Amino acid sequence: MTGRLVVVSNRVPSDGPPSGGLVVALHDCLRATGGLWFGTSGRITDDPDDSFAQVQGDGYTMRTFDLSPAEQQGYYLGYANSVLWPLCHRRADLMALNAGDYDTYMQVNRRLARMMAAELRPDDRIWIHDYHFLPLADCLRAEGVTATIGYFHHIPFPATHDMMALPQHDLFPRWMAGFDLFGLQTQRDVAAALEMLRGLPGAELLRDGTISYRDRRFEVRSFPIGIDAAAFAAEAARIDGRALLNFAPDERLVIGVDRLDYSKGLDNRLRAFGRYLRDRAEDAPKASLLQIAPPTREEVDAYQQIREDLERTAGKVNGLHSDLGWTPIRYIHSGVPRDTLAAVYRAADVGFVTPFCDGMNLVAKEFVAAQDPDDPGVLILSQFAGAVEQMASALIVNPYDIGEMARALRQALAMPLAERIDRHQALARGVFRKDVAHWTRSYLDTMDRLSAARD
Ligand code: ADP
Repeated sequence: MTGRLVVVSNRVPSDGPPSGGLVVALHDCLRATGGLWFGTSGRITDDPDDSFAQVQGDGYTMRTFDLSPAEQQGYYLGYANSVLWPLCHRRADLMALNAGDYDTYMQVNRRLARMMAAELRPDDRIWIHDYHFLPLADCLRAEGVTATIGYFHHIPFPATHDMMALPQHDLFPRWMAGFDLFGLQTQRDVAAALEMLRGLPGAELLRDGTISYRDRRFEVRSFPIGIDAAAFAAEAARIDGRALLNFAPDERLVIGVDRLDYSKGLDNRLRAFGRYLRDRAEDAPKASLLQIAPPTREEVDAYQQIREDLERTAGKVNGLHSDLGWTPIRYIHSGVPRDTLAAVYRAADVGFVTPFCDGMNLVAKEFVAAQDPDDPGVLILSQFAGAVEQMASALIVNPYDIGEMARALRQALAMPLAERIDRHQALARGVFRKDVAHWTRSYLDTMDRLSAARD
């Protein structure tokens, strides 16, 4: 490998040790190769200047910049999270379109490109993460940057039909073409991206898989992200999750873990659990649902109603089915430390992962990694999670079909040990082999191949 690795992500772990799968993976990569990590500091300042603060990482350097209150609003809460996020999650109806937000989003990308260009070298390999920075390569090219630039889109690629609802949809191909490698989570996403590019004036899909668009060539490929499965499994075995939960010995546990986001299908999940309780036979296992769902992005309008709706549904189900000693749905609004979370997954009989739309869904992989291989729980997984392409041995459900999800719960809770072990072995093989280190390696190897081909 030649050249420095330069990573860009919206947030940089400059205020403490890195945590979370992606941040740890990028940290490990940078530690091995040296290099730079650019991103926002998390601080909002009234009049941020055009310079980076420097924070020394372990073998690499972080360069952070502050946002002004108007940038936080227009770039982050506005265009990124109130336009691109719903667009990419099949909820174009929730887009809050506002020309000012788009302008601010572009201003932040241009400002960052200007600041970065002064520090970059031609042989750097630049790896940009996520929808906050879709136009960043195009802005860097305008600043004269010729280095190899890759991008990874952690969320789904929008369907062509939805894309038409984005006022800037005609700019999207140009943003993509600024990169040399446009990475996506799944084959389904690659198909959606190619569908958009096919037939576009000025675009040509070449035989070797590259795309030529105006004066640029780039590749679109899938790199399904993984987790640090070995570390997570070790964490899960350290604490006794059942002791933490104070469950009755015969009580079975169904677990859901999600940010409170409209893409996660939470209300339908709770209703499906209610249907399971309504229809279960007298002697069927007594199962409780533990839903861990910390609120996020509460400043964004589309998120304000979710918590209320969910509490209403949970209250209704609990009102119908609780008895003096038992409340079937337990609902936690806060974040949970990772070691506790890992132990709770391991204690669970069923992982209930039913998003309407999800780039990958790391919770599904964490649930599998955390299980006891000799007595594993069962994963129920939405057909609309990106993870489904790699996790065919889960019980696959349609998150819009309450009856089907209730039946899957019944099947999971009654599943014989031999079948649970078979399914878990097949799932675990993928989760442990295709872990986050595999993901970073395969992405960077592809970038290296592309830069070698250009030299
Ligand atoms: P998304 O990126 O859309 O939030 P993912 O399922 O891919 O969805 O990733 C969510 C990550 O956040 C997982 O690593 C999960 O463990 C973590 N997480 C979600 N809720 C909590 C919580 N309440 N406490 C701690 N970690 C959480």
